Amino acid sequence: MALIVQKFGGSSVRDAERVFNVADIVTSKYREGNEVVVVVSAQGDTTDDLIEKAMELNKNPSKREMDQLLTAGEQISASLLAMAIEKLGYPVVSLLGWQAGFTTSTAYGSARIKRVNPERIKAELSKRNIVIVTGFQGVNKYDDMTTLGRGGSDTSAVAIAAALHADLCQIYTDVEGVYTADPRKIPKAKKLDFISYDEMLELATLGAQVLNNRSVEMAKKYNIELEVLSSLTRAKGTIVKEVSNIEKMLISGVAKDDNVARISIIGVPDKPGLAFRIFSKLAQKNINVDIILQSIGRNGTKDITFTVEKDKMDAAIELMQTYVENFGATGVVADDNVTKVSIVGSGMESHPGVASDMFEALFEANVNIQMIATSEIKISVLIDKEMGAQAVQAIHAKFFEQIGQ
Ligand code: ADP
Ligand code: ASP
Ligand code: MG
Repeated sequence: MALIVQKFGGSSVRDAERVFNVADIVTSKYREGNEVVVVVSAQGDTTDDLIEKAMELNKNPSKREMDQLLTAGEQISASLLAMAIEKLGYPVVSLLGWQAGFTTSTAYGSARIKRVNPERIKAELSKRNIVIVTGFQGVNKYDDMTTLGRGGSDTSAVAIAAALHADLCQIYTDVEGVYTADPRKIPKAKKLDFISYDEMLELATLGAQVLNNRSVEMAKKYNIELEVLSSLTRAKGTIVKEVSNIEKMLISGVAKDDNVARISIIGVPDKPGLAFRIFSKLAQKNINVDIILQSIGRNGTKDITFTVEKDKMDAAIELMQTYVENFGATGVVADDNVTKVSIVGSGMESHPGVASDMFEALFEANVNIQMIATSEIKISVLIDKEMGAQAVQAIHAKFFEQIGQ
């Protein structure tokens, strides 16, 4: 007998037929004698629809009320799945985040899980109940419901798996696993049998939406092996785990992130302390900076360019404009018509040709590179948004579609 945590994303519980499909997956594991805890997301596009409803009434609602609203999505899918399982004749109980012991930070809309007290879940399991838990939510110290940020149900599942010391954590979704690129955009993308936590974390952070990056971070921290698989085909999926050196791949995937904007401070005096002043102002306003590029000083001035998340662009421009004179710079320019394309792979550390292969693929596709950032296991380029799809296609072809691969 094993303790299994299964998470089902929005498309897996989209309508009654899909809910029964999930009920079938869950009860077949239960029938084998396992203890089963299920985490569900809101049905289909429910979260987006709820956001739209809110915007019709108030373009700037309080984050607290948004969380009151959005937690309803998962409440609906959890209770409906429980009803479907009841109908199949199995003992089941659904729990909201607070009932399942999820305590979070106070940050409405992007709360962090502080603790999962699994007592209630354990009590239900010991009564041989199948336990359904709402993903994406918890309760803060004010007894208010909070949400964990978009895609947060993956993190709820991993947190439960960690708290219960589960034997297996399965993330069911609408594709058969983690691929070398988004399989909906790149038909030749290949399913990976396994991927390391570090590579998956990079891919998720760099735009591969299949897993939420916080969930991967947590899985790594608590050493929880994840299996990403399809609720529709039920084929063998991808295992996310600690990977040995021998198993390491040169490149594991290509990702694209459109949620990016580029900001340049022009004519910054070429003297010490300016980078410090610029980036400390941004940090004070909680504006996260990603790629940074500084030009060589010429005639006593230089340009400093950086990227931020798209929804932080206006705040960053406004902030920089208030200081531009004070910095002694001449202006601020911004562009959100950009995208970030990245390759991730733990083998690139020891293979010097990877960057040049990536740049060659971009050159062959006639894509101009605006900025480059590298780490031990990733290379990212900032390019024109219109060229994004073509760039991913070209890079994927270069690394994964050559003869003999
Ligand atoms: P869920 O609702 O189950 O949480 P998501 O929509 O959040 O599902 O994530 C699944 C989607 O992630 C897939 O439909 C796919 O289009 C996208 N995706 C992006 N990059 C990848 C990748 N490298 N491998 C697999 N899926 C990917
Ligand atoms: N329903 C939430 C969202 O759409 C959480 C999730 O799906 O993981 O972001
Ligand atoms: Mg998701």
